[in-house]
Amino acid sequence: MVERHLDADVVVVGGGPAGSAAAIACASRGLRVVLLERDVFASERPGETLHPGAEPLLAQLGLSERLPTVIGARHEGIWIEWGSPRRYEPYGADGDGPWSGMQVSRADFDSLLLARARELGVDVRQPCAATAPLLGEARLNGVMTDDGPVVARVVVDGSGRARWLGRALGVDSPARSPRLIVRYGYMEGTCPVRDAAPALVADQTGWTWTARVNHRKYQWTRLDFGAVPDADWLPEEFRALTPLSRTRGADMTWRMADSAAGPGWFMVGDAAAILDPTSSRGVLKALMTGVMSGHLIAGVLQGKAPGDEAARAYHAWIADWFETDIGNLTAFYRMLNNSLFA
Ligand SMILES: Cc1cc2nc3c(=O)[nH]c(=O)nc-3n(C[C@H](O)[C@H](O)[C@H](O)COP(=O)(O)OP(=O)(O)OC[C@H]3O[C@@H](n4cnc5c(N)ncnc54)[C@H](O)[C@@H]3O)c2cc1C
Repeated sequence: MVERHLDADVVVVGGGPAGSAAAIACASRGLRVVLLERDVFASERPGETLHPGAEPLLAQLGLSERLPTVIGARHEGIWIEWGSPRRYEPYGADGDGPWSGMQVSRADFDSLLLARARELGVDVRQPCAATAPLLGEARLNGVMTDDGPVVARVVVDGSGRARWLGRALGVDSPARSPRLIVRYGYMEGTCPVRDAAPALVADQTGWTWTARVNHRKYQWTRLDFGAVPDADWLPEEFRALTPLSRTRGADMTWRMADSAAGPGWFMVGDAAAILDPTSSRGVLKALMTGVMSGHLIAGVLQGKAPGDEAARAYHAWIADWFETDIGNLTAFYRMLNNSLFA
């Protein structure tokens, strides 16, 4: 049999937390990895409030020492006003004290993860976009990029809401919620009421999330039930602050891929499953799926596990927590007694 030329064992599409975690997990198990990221990170990337559960995962990825350099603020809980008076909900505590969440600048955070990947020998190509999968007879052979082909044994799709591989392979990702379009923006100035902890506040027509990102920078996200928020909408508490850029929109309809893995490919992070930001766990799930996929890919490529079983187990693992999360989120929305989740 003729050995085919390989550029890498694994090619990862996307340099967000999911793709980077997958690349780091694969490289730290001795695999050769190429990672493609199409964008030079903009200073404002949403997803800055990290759940405390992300910290042990980041330590596992070798980032505990450098993590403090990208943390702009910490908080031990969240203010929630959701069908009842405003209450402070702490994350929890253990023998070492209260757990705390982190506010990070995502551009810095994502760059830190990519730097760690490079340190482990990952060939990080940025900016470089994946343009099409290289289709073999029964499996993928890699990825075509705007800079030529990358031939690899496994493709990891960490392209986020773009769902690049799912769209290219025709893997459906059906909606599991009403259409949920959020609008979000960034403000500069001071807002002492928001410095200690983020807030999630529901009203008659939707909900608003407000958080401090770092010194003098704040972020908000707004969802209107059954409608798209106006482009010039601003949260009351931030009206005296200066907008840092135009507001942007994002489709956060809950979705999960019909298959999150297959012969020679894995989807990680938002590319596999999306929930809206009230779950506050998108980055945590991105890191978890990246780490898990890396573990399974190494097992398969090192001959310790059959590929089809690994793909099935991975899909079942994601489907299990996704179903639990949508059950919890549906119950959470129903507390508001509006028609959206009736
Ligand atoms: C308004 C808003 C607020 C949010 N708030 C929070 C929050 O507070 N906390 C939280 O945990 N989560 C939050 N989230 C969710 C969080 O941002 C995502 O869950 C998380 O970023 C998913 O990580 P990822 O790596 O899967 O995808 P992403 O972070 O989206 O990264 C995907 C990467 O793939 C790249 N890419 C796409 N296509 C290609 C291609 N063809 N070739 C090469 N590269 C490609 C993109 O450029 C991008 O860098 C929020 C989301 C939004 C929209």
